[in-house]
Amino acid sequence: MYSMISIGTNPPAPPAHKPPVDEATLLHKQLLHGPFWHRIPAYRDITDEQFLDHRWQAKHSITNAPKLLAALQGLVSKAFLEDARQGFAHAPMSVRVSPYLLSLIDWSAPEDDPLRIQFIPLASHRLPDHPNLELDSLHERADAPVPGLTHRYIDKALFLPLDTCPVYCRFCTRSYAVGVDTEEVEKVPLGVNEERWRQAFAYIASRPELEDIVVSGGDAYNLRASQITLIGEALLALPNIRRIRYATKGPAVMPQKILSDHEWLDALTRIVDRGRTLHKEVVIHTHFNHPNEITGITEDAMNRLMERGITVRNQTVLQRRVNDSAATMKLLVKRLGHVNVHPYYVYLHDLVKGVEDLRTSLDTALAIEKQVRGTTAGFNTPTFVVDAPGGGGKRDAHSFEHYDRATGISVYTSPSVHEGTQYLYFDPIQPLAAETRARWASPPARAAMIEGALAAARARAR
Ligand SMILES: *Cc1c(COP(=O)(O)O)cnc(C)c1O
Ligand code: SF4
Repeated sequence: MYSMISIGTNPPAPPAHKPPVDEATLLHKQLLHGPFWHRIPAYRDITDEQFLDHRWQAKHSITNAPKLLAALQGLVSKAFLEDARQGFAHAPMSVRVSPYLLSLIDWSAPEDDPLRIQFIPLASHRLPDHPNLELDSLHERADAPVPGLTHRYIDKALFLPLDTCPVYCRFCTRSYAVGVDTEEVEKVPLGVNEERWRQAFAYIASRPELEDIVVSGGDAYNLRASQITLIGEALLALPNIRRIRYATKGPAVMPQKILSDHEWLDALTRIVDRGRTLHKEVVIHTHFNHPNEITGITEDAMNRLMERGITVRNQTVLQRRVNDSAATMKLLVKRLGHVNVHPYYVYLHDLVKGVEDLRTSLDTALAIEKQVRGTTAGFNTPTFVVDAPGGGGKRDAHSFEHYDRATGISVYTSPSVHEGTQYLYFDPIQPLAAETRARWASPPARAAMIEGALAAARARAR
């Protein structure tokens, strides 16, 4: 029983201390609702019930370039279709796009659409790869004691139990392994293989310093419920393991699964609950890149996770023309907070083959970070990081030893990972001055620029 406490009539609002804000300008709360998929001719008759069913989404996901182009017939110009056809012919990644994603693209202006840019390459936008780029730029394989287990940092490791995803992103860092072979890349096999998993668990068990396992891939969305359980139980049973993260892009590209795949969500929830009774943290790490990826369906899905006490953190990749403006990044961060997803990292784009058009400079990242910090809670403010090429691990973008905006070369060190080693990150070359671009084109001049940057960093080192 409780009694109503009377507080009398509401007093008038105290005088304004800040300029008034029109609620209509709070864009982060304005999520897309309703049958937005009806804009796509092929989905005009698809009901809410069908569209919200993950099985329908998975079954109708488009898995090769000809089918994708066929689905776009009539929506886009012939010139755009030809451009995309040629774009796919040279792409290092497999093709897979969910109907949900396809429905969120503005097909009246596909060239500039932030989701189109992430999933559908256009040959006309292609730029030459940076001359210092390698296929596995993060050296994940070099730090792997077991195939698909990267032990780089002292107390945490990255476990790749499978090599498939609900969608394939153009910019994937793991294009060396993820998805099926393409004309450009023959993949390292990291398929579901319980024997390989057992070896990974045995290695983890043998390393008392390991406390934290990232279960990634590929993508944990594509693990069956029984596999979520097997991996979760195996890791929770190890006394040294205190934290587990299931990494999945799923919430950003197919939130329907959280709402309709009860077996999968129940399996995950059981592992989270079991972890809680053991005082171990089990969370989801996801990957939203643009505010348009967060709809009313996402909100419903994230609410479901909230009700089950499942923490969700987000890792974004900074990409040119996708989210490389302060306004977009602020909206993304606020909208993530609104649906109870914690922005954790914003990554400078790795040096990945075939996607030079997506990279931004370090300077861009630093400028955006300055604008984002202070717009919302500190715990919802992402750290901007560079994953140092060559295996240095993630570094705070601001912590460079040296950065020359003219050459685009930055130098990092990573004393907790490899004491004494210097790591280089390179801004894209195309926006640099013509004279500097010419130096990049000449191998001796390029070597001299890099040597100069390393020497300048050493001179500053304390
Ligand atoms: C990113 C990453 C981790 C986790 O790092 P956090 O900074 O704790 O998110 C672990 N291992 C590898 C190899 C990674 O790339
Ligand atoms: S979902 Fe993740 S692992 Fe899969 S293709 Fe996209 S970035 Fe790569």
